[in-house]
Amino acid sequence: MSVPASSTVFPRIPTLSDFSVRLIAWQREHGRHDLPWQNTRDPYRIWLSEIMLQQTQVSTVIPYYARFLARFPDVAALAAAPADDVMTLWAGLGYYTRARNLHRCAQVVVEQHGGRFPESVEALAELPGIGRSTAAAIASFAFGARATILDGNVKRVLARVFGVEGFPGEKKVENGMWLLAESLLPVNATDDDISAYTQGLMDFGATLCARGKPDCVRCPFAVDCVANVTGRQRELPAARPKKTVPTRRTWMLLLRDGDTVMLEKRPPSGIWGGLWSLPEAADEAALVQLARDFGATADVSPLAPLTHVFTHFRLDRGVRPCGDSRGRARRRHRMDLAERTGRVWRARARAQAARSPAGLADLNAGATAADAAACSDARCRSVPRRPAVPSAFAAPSARQAALRTDGSTPMSDRRA
Ligand code: SF4
Repeated sequence: MSVPASSTVFPRIPTLSDFSVRLIAWQREHGRHDLPWQNTRDPYRIWLSEIMLQQTQVSTVIPYYARFLARFPDVAALAAAPADDVMTLWAGLGYYTRARNLHRCAQVVVEQHGGRFPESVEALAELPGIGRSTAAAIASFAFGARATILDGNVKRVLARVFGVEGFPGEKKVENGMWLLAESLLPVNATDDDISAYTQGLMDFGATLCARGKPDCVRCPFAVDCVANVTGRQRELPAARPKKTVPTRRTWMLLLRDGDTVMLEKRPPSGIWGGLWSLPEAADEAALVQLARDFGATADVSPLAPLTHVFTHFRLDRGVRPCGDSRGRARRRHRMDLAERTGRVWRARARAQAARSPAGLADLNAGATAADAAACSDARCRSVPRRPAVPSAFAAPSARQAALRTDGSTPMSDRRA
């Protein structure tokens, strides 16, 4: 094994020249072989799965992958689709920039590459939404390229097996890991070996060397693994250095009219970008005014706030439901005003079917005032809604605040 001797990240590197041989053997016997995106060399299908699997678990991706393929069977169909259709199918999968880049990438492949994905890692990495690791995965699965991936699972495996110190998200540590990962690639390998190796890296981190409970007893690297030999499985890889995560607050209006609900389209960038959501206001006073503009009673108690927990911030989202309209004139006014302000009235069932996380989880809560509904955004560790409280949103009680911070679970790397 040739490992960068000058790297300060690896003060002592154990010899593990047969890393790839052991990993390929393990993958062929214990790895995953029947996922919907396996057993194909079709770069479109492989690319689609790789984008969906970024930061998202396999079990979550499978139904989305099937729906996308049914609706967009090839890259040309995806490129030609309206952006709204793509966003609607993606809704609930999280990280919506991925969906916009997915659509843009399909258009670039069609317009600039004649509908064929380029084969080199470098050319793939030039496409929208495809980073270095994803490009390597596509190139190795579709074209047998000898290229390494380095996602969160792989970083965890390398950190443990080779005793890599430091937080893998830190640039210096990550650069060292890229060098290490490249040094471990199999030599004189067939296309199938390369695919098995890449899949092995993914499967190994997701199923055996898992974050919480690595199964060291069954591990082919057990006798060499630094973490296992030194009993440091919990310490490696090093955790992200702690920093205070800011809390933002937003307000949304749940305005119903019979069995319809008013929605607005969010700006293309930012949280839940491009999705339909409940109308949002800058503060509670603006929210009350918005309700009044639509002739709604604003004295309905707000629902208890729901906290969305993202990587870089927490979002407290308060929702104020309003009662049904009364009178034909008021209803006409509401319809006209919605049209003039770019909003739509949509059947509640249809809005819920869109699975948008942007406030639409509140539709049930608004109907019953006490439903427990959690955010459907796959990246969000939102705390389930508590029953409605009779107080103003602005001042949750100490007990509510405590409830809102219970039950969070760590975000997954991917492919768990
Ligand atoms: S011995 Fe344990 S910690 Fe080390 S690579 Fe294997 S499963 Fe992971």
